[in-house]
Amino acid sequence: MAYLIGLIIGLIIYSIVFGFITEYVAESKGYDGGFWWGFWLGIIGLLVVGFRPDNRQEYRPSSSAELPAWASSSSSSSSSSSGWTCTCGAKNPSSIDYCLSCRRSKSDAVMPKKICPHCGAGNRSTNSLCFACDKPLDEGE
Ligand SMILES: [Zn+2]
Ligand SMILES: [Zn+2]
Repeated sequence: MAYLIGLIIGLIIYSIVFGFITEYVAESKGYDGGFWWGFWLGIIGLLVVGFRPDNRQEYRPSSSAELPAWASSSSSSSSSSSGWTCTCGAKNPSSIDYCLSCRRSKSDAVMPKKICPHCGAGNRSTNSLCFACDKPLDEGE
């Protein structure tokens, strides 16, 4: 009697072990319920599950969808060409609004002003006559 109980317990443990093995194999292939194949059929169930075709959908790993490293840093190298040149000759990045060399503000440097020697009004450098007093800007005193 003890021998029979031991045999049954041994068979149950054997079935459960094979059940877990076939469940693991079945789940790795995309199937559900692989446990009972191994539980009832043992090594035969394992072979049945093991020789099944792979049921998983075509799975693309998400890492390949990420952008390559060079794509994210491509904009940093092209920023040097979009700067502005000060009247002093220094080239400044477009993100800074004053000259790094002479500290003039960007609006003054790009379009320098001429101060009228007669009335002190700030004129565009292209003006030859003061817009306020109509006197020639280049003429001192
Ligand atoms: Zn400057
Ligand atoms: Zn003037």
